[in-house]
Amino acid sequence: MRLRFAPSPTGYLHVGGARTALFNWLLARRGGGTFVLRIEDTDRDRSRPEHVEAILNGLTWLGIDWDEGPYFQAAGVERHRADALRLLAEGRAYRDFTPREEFERARDAAVAAGSGAVTRLSRDLATRVPPAEQERRAVAGDPFAVRFLVPDGTTSWRDLVHGDTRFANAEIDDFVILRSDGTPTYNLAVVSDDAHTAITHVLRGDDHLSNTPKQILLYEALGHPVPAFGHLPMILGPDGKRLSKRHGARAVEAFEGEGVVADAMVNFLALLGWSPGTDEELLSRDELVERFALERVLKKESVFDPAKLFWMNGQYIARMAPVELAAALRDALGRDGVAPGEIALNEEAFARMAAALAPRSRTFTEMARMSRPYVGPVRDYDPKATKKNWYRDPAATTRVLTAVRDKLAGMAWEPDALEGELRALAGELGVGAGQVFQPLRVALTGVAASPGIFDVLLILGRERSLARVQRALLSIAGSQ
Ligand code: GLU
Repeated sequence: MRLRFAPSPTGYLHVGGARTALFNWLLARRGGGTFVLRIEDTDRDRSRPEHVEAILNGLTWLGIDWDEGPYFQAAGVERHRADALRLLAEGRAYRDFTPREEFERARDAAVAAGSGAVTRLSRDLATRVPPAEQERRAVAGDPFAVRFLVPDGTTSWRDLVHGDTRFANAEIDDFVILRSDGTPTYNLAVVSDDAHTAITHVLRGDDHLSNTPKQILLYEALGHPVPAFGHLPMILGPDGKRLSKRHGARAVEAFEGEGVVADAMVNFLALLGWSPGTDEELLSRDELVERFALERVLKKESVFDPAKLFWMNGQYIARMAPVELAAALRDALGRDGVAPGEIALNEEAFARMAAALAPRSRTFTEMARMSRPYVGPVRDYDPKATKKNWYRDPAATTRVLTAVRDKLAGMAWEPDALEGELRALAGELGVGAGQVFQPLRVALTGVAASPGIFDVLLILGRERSLARVQRALLSIAGSQ
């Protein structure tokens, strides 16, 4: 199998494109095939080098590696043109000198006169110019488009996703293959390139469905073997409309920036339109490669649900090894502008913190945000947290935190001792453990939700913990 991904560099790698790339890649990796990358940069006005780079970076981040390419479509323009001229020479295409306005006028008139089909109108107009005059005008340098002469009949194929699919050729107009400025059109360039690189399977979005009969006709006319085609159903946003910029983050890169793990993104993308046949949701890259099959590509649209992606990402984070967690968290802090020198934790405390925050984080961006009171100082106390945990009874809070402060100074700094002593302290004070832990949590982190209080103490260390309890006591006293 030779498969390809052929993005146009007119924007970033978006979710739909990444899904197409992934499905092709999974098929290639599963069947020992070859995965070719081709950048379709023939639209000179809209193609941008930074988009090429974003696409390559997006694929690289996802771990979708290619075996050949990237080829650039624009490099093949001479071949595309030669193919068009060959079709012209063989009588499978014709010159069309009709100016656009004249064509549009004739079309509007035909429609107004109630003529249903206008697919052969360009042919009718073009053939009014006798062959000898066509020759003369071509030699004289009059601009003309080359249109494909769509044969009579039906064009059909067994779609890898949708099964038997057919189009009546009468409904396909004699499409342009070479514009009057000499540039090839999309359908011609794609066929020429896919044939040139011996692509055997074309798997792409179903927005290309109506291009496929045209391309099959071109393969046949050019005498190339026709590849197998499969069209992946659309991806919808949570509102049921086609996924678009309106739905916010659509560029794969944006998810990387939010601290999504590449493996989670791949897992999520794989389930957009494919099912393993069970209700399993967490599938590693290797499992996907092993189990991916076209038979279970769904015919109906799938819905892109960011909440599900973030849930899945949380599952991946929770399963990551401590070293990986720590590295990814450092990256996320870096993206937030926290320089390594600003991190007030040693390796061990940092790793402990990453592990403690992992089960509570859906993304590394979230984790980085939650890590701020450990990495640096507590800047503000969350007013909701203090209202509930300190100021309902400031005198009692002061008594508890003072007792904690006095105890912390002499405590053995290891998990069991901390837990034993703080629980004993609650007993001595005649309060529940929560009445010690919650005010202390707010004092240490500024917020009401954090990892276990003993983990928090161990992450911060004795000195910083003590200083924070002391500062909390001052703050409570100051607000009375
Ligand atoms: N360049 C086309 C696109 O980005 C894809 C062409 C194809 O897959 O045949 O939509």
